Amino acid sequence: MAFDVKEYALALDKFIVQMEKIPDLINPDTQQAMDGLCKVLRIAKVEADFYENLGYEEQKWGGRAVFYHNGECDAQRGMVYEEWTEEGNLMKYGIYPTVGEAEWDENEQEKIQVFLKVLLTFNARTRMQQMVQRLTFRDRELGMYNMAWFMKNTNHIISKGEICKYAACQFNMRHFSVINQQIGRERGSRVLGKFIRQFQEKLSSEEMVCRISGDNFVVLFFKTNLKMVMEYLKGTGIVYDEKQGKRVWITTNAGYYMIPANCDSAASIMECLGTAINMARDVRKTEYAFFDAELMQGIRVGKMIEANLPEALAREEFQVYYQPKIQLKNYNLVGAEALCRWFQNGKMIAPGEFIPILEKSKLICLLDFYMLEHVCRDIRRWLDEGKEVVTVSVNLSRVHMGDMDLLDNILAIVDKYEVPHRYIEIELTETGTDVEYSHLKSLVSGLREHGFSTSVDDFGTGYSSMNLIRELPWNVLKIDKSFLPDNSDDDRQKRVMFRHLIALAQDMEIECIVEGVENVEQIKLLKESNCYLAQGFYFDRPLAVTEFEQKLTEISS
Ligand code: C2E
Ligand code: MG
Ligand code: MG
Repeated sequence: MAFDVKEYALALDKFIVQMEKIPDLINPDTQQAMDGLCKVLRIAKVEADFYENLGYEEQKWGGRAVFYHNGECDAQRGMVYEEWTEEGNLMKYGIYPTVGEAEWDENEQEKIQVFLKVLLTFNARTRMQQMVQRLTFRDRELGMYNMAWFMKNTNHIISKGEICKYAACQFNMRHFSVINQQIGRERGSRVLGKFIRQFQEKLSSEEMVCRISGDNFVVLFFKTNLKMVMEYLKGTGIVYDEKQGKRVWITTNAGYYMIPANCDSAASIMECLGTAINMARDVRKTEYAFFDAELMQGIRVGKMIEANLPEALAREEFQVYYQPKIQLKNYNLVGAEALCRWFQNGKMIAPGEFIPILEKSKLICLLDFYMLEHVCRDIRRWLDEGKEVVTVSVNLSRVHMGDMDLLDNILAIVDKYEVPHRYIEIELTETGTDVEYSHLKSLVSGLREHGFSTSVDDFGTGYSSMNLIRELPWNVLKIDKSFLPDNSDDDRQKRVMFRHLIALAQDMEIECIVEGVENVEQIKLLKESNCYLAQGFYFDRPLAVTEFEQKLTEISS
C-alpha cells in the first residue's frame, strides 16, 4: 500500500495533541496516542533504552521502556535510532515492523525519524517533570519522600474516601546523637538511611514513609500492618560494618493514630501524631503512645496542673517529705532525700503524676527551687534548735540544663538561710543532648567547688552512664532500684551486674548508695557487695517533716 502523506500528517497532528494531555510517557494512554501514527508508519513496537551518558551506555547501565506494542512485532527486524537530549542523555529507540510486512522505504524511514524526534521532546519533558518532582517531593540527603509528598498523597487518599483503611505514625530515633558519637556522623547517616529503606521494603506501594526533618519521620500504613510496624519501630538491629558484622540497635519514640473515616485533612493527622509522640517521649517516657480518648484526658489534666501550679506554690500546697538514708554498718541515719508531695483539697498527689507534666513546660524549675528553699528553711530551723543535721539531697530536673544562672541561683537560696554547703546534696540525672551534657559537666564541677555534694540519680537506667561517671567529678552514685535483685528474682546476671556496679563505683572512689531497698535479702546482698548505704521502704517511706524531725531528735540525744 502506498504511503499516504496526508494521512501521515493528520496522524502526527493527532499524536501530538493526545500526548500533550498525558502527564508522562510511562502511561497506559501512550499506547492509544501512538496507535494511529504507528499504523500509518507500519510500526508494531516502539521501545526506548535510556542512558544517562555514553559511559553508562558502555556499562549497559540504562533503563528500558516500551511505549507501544500491538502484539504482532517482528522481533528479528528491529531498527535502532539514536537520539540525544539537550542534557546529554542518550535515547536508543528500537522500532519494529509487523511480522510479514515489507521493509520500510526511504520516505517512511525519514518520517519515522521525525516521529522519534517528536517523541524525544515528550521524553525530555517527562524527565524534566520527574526532576521537578524529585526536587519537590524527595528529601535531598536520604533520597526518600518528604513532608510535601506526605501531605499531597494523604490528602489524595482522603479525597478518595479511603483514609479509614490507614493508620499513621510519627517516629523519632532515640539517642541518635549518642549513636553518632559512637560510630561517627557519616556512618550514623548511613544507618539512618538503611533503617528507613528496610522499613520501606516491608511496606506496599500504597503505604509510605516520609522524612519530616533530621531523624523525624512519618509513616502512613494499612491498619492491618500495625503489628509489623510497631515491632520494627520498637527496635531493629542495623549492620553498619558488613565486614565485621557490627550492628547498632535502633529504637524509636513513636506516636500512633488509627485514622477515623471522618478525618478531613493531612494536617489534622499530623497534629494528632505530634500530640501522641510528645506524650510518649516527654510526658510518659514510654516508647510509644496512641492518640485516643485516654490521651486527650491526660492532656486535659496536664493543662489543669500547669494552670494551677503558680497558685499552688503560693498557697504552699507542696510539702517536702524526707526519706532517710541509712548506714548499714550501724543502721544510723546518715542523710535524707527530699521528695515532693502535692496536697490538694486534702488529697495527696504523687510526683509521678505531675513532675513529667511540669518538666514539659519548664515549670518544674519553679518547683525545684521551691523545694530547695523549703529544705534550707528546715535545715536552718534544725540547726537553730541545736539538732544534729544530716545532708539532705534535693532533686534537680534536667530541664534546668541550659540555665546559665543555675549555680548562682542555688547559691543565693542556700546562702540566704546560711546553711553550710556540706548539708546540701544535689541529685541529677543523665541529660539528653550534647549541649545539656556540657552544662551538666560545668554545673557538677561548680557545685563541688562550692562544697556541695552531687549525686547521679537513677544510675544505670540511661544510655551514657559510663561516660557520665568517667568525665564528671560526682560524690555519690545512686544505683537505681531496677538493678536490685528482689526476692523472687534469682536472676544470676542481675546479681553479677549489681556487684560489679558497686565495685566500679568504689574503685573510682565514688560513694555508692542503693535506692529502693525493700527486704532483708537485699540488705544481705548489699553488705556482701561492700555497699553500706541504703535508702528504701525497708527502713522508711518518705516521711512528713514532723516525723523526720523526730528521727533527728533521736540521733541528737
Ligand atoms: P527519685 O529521685 O529516684 O526518688 C526515688 C523514688 O523512689 C521516690 O519516689 C521514692 O518514694 C521511691 N522509693 C524509695 N524507696 C523505695 C522502695 O523501697 N521501693 C520503691 N518501689 N520505691 C521507693 P517518689 O517520691 O514517687 O518520686 C518519684 C520521682 O519523682 C523521683 O525519683 C524524682 O525523680 C521525682 N521527684 C520527686 N520530688 C522531686 C522534686 O522535688 N524535683 C524533681 N525534679 N523531681 C522530683
Ligand atoms: Mg532522686
Ligand atoms: Mg532515683
